[in-house]
Amino acid sequence: MSSPLDMLDAELTELEEHGLIRQLRRMNGVQGRVIDLDGRTVLNFSANNYLGLAGSDELRRALAKAVGRVGVGAGASRLIAGNMAEHEALEQDLARFHETEAALVFNSGYHANIGVIQALAGPADEVFSDELNHASLIDGCRLSRAKVSVFPHRDVATLARQLTASSARRKLVVTDALFSMDGDPAPVAALADLCAQAGALLVVDEAHAVGVIGPAGRGLCAAAGVVPAALVGTMGKAFGVFGAYVAGERRLIRYLVNRARSFIFTTALPPAVMTACRASVRIASGNEGDALRADLAARVSQFREGLRALGLPTPSESHIQPIVLGDERRTMAVAEELLEQGVYAQGIRPPTVPRGTSRLRVALMATHTLADVEFLLTCLGASKQIG
Ligand SMILES: *Cc1c(COP(=O)(O)O)cnc(C)c1O
Repeated sequence: MSSPLDMLDAELTELEEHGLIRQLRRMNGVQGRVIDLDGRTVLNFSANNYLGLAGSDELRRALAKAVGRVGVGAGASRLIAGNMAEHEALEQDLARFHETEAALVFNSGYHANIGVIQALAGPADEVFSDELNHASLIDGCRLSRAKVSVFPHRDVATLARQLTASSARRKLVVTDALFSMDGDPAPVAALADLCAQAGALLVVDEAHAVGVIGPAGRGLCAAAGVVPAALVGTMGKAFGVFGAYVAGERRLIRYLVNRARSFIFTTALPPAVMTACRASVRIASGNEGDALRADLAARVSQFREGLRALGLPTPSESHIQPIVLGDERRTMAVAEELLEQGVYAQGIRPPTVPRGTSRLRVALMATHTLADVEFLLTCLGASKQIG
């Protein structure tokens, strides 16, 4: 008997044949520098838990205590019966953290990005998007039904020409702050200048920067003295929890509450999670956060020196360190080789990165030790497929 689902088999087989098939791996226990992966203890260089807060005792206690007080689910969307004191308290903390008038919690960075772009841009508008932007920004562009002009990676001159040529009603420039697969920073100061000249709105997705980059971990824009029209941050990466937010002026937030469909039509996050997020922002923006960021910077320097010693390029100065190998199969073979030695560094392939640029994405954490990074470098040096 044939089934209409048979058509999926051919496509899956094709993915397999091209070395592009994806499979879930199972982690057990707490997320940290060391994890249990499919029953084996391995060094974790694949997580976005950059400060190691996901397993923090203080956050566990904050979450457990809050669950005791307010229960589990929010029961409804924010605009119906789900807006709880905990959501608003976190939003106030985030606005203070980013020195903006207001902030709005979204259920994830994915929700935030599609919501912001869809709300701010429509069919009469034009969105200008860096070619290496995260998939959620790309999906937001599609959802907006605006004209989308992709500019070459960090190419301010091309963007300037595109903005000048545009006669769209509204212009929106969207970019990752720290690019998720390359670890390089967007030229946010130049982008802000261009937006000011063109009357365009600047949307900066600080997913990999908040908690890690800038004064008190306020992100790349704060480090560059730039105030974007909308700043997107996630609670799921350096902050080690879950959820996301947009920070900006009060009228932006009011607009999003009325227009961002991914905010309006979804159940509010559990209030206790908001309380855990508050604890995380407190830790990450204080002295403990500064100490963790210093530890992380030391590991980044160590890793880059090690790569140089191996004769490998060091294109990224951040905690995201790509080792571009090009071919998909070769990349996955190296990742597998590392795993056999107890090192988990995820191989990244198309469509996450452009064809021919498959890579290991090494994500460093503040809690990695000198010996952890040394061991990773030793494994990379020993690989016959690198260099
Ligand atoms: C991870 C990521 C997101 C999505 O954030 P989540 O909170 O994980 O949904 C958005 N933008 C970028 C650049 C990311 O890397």
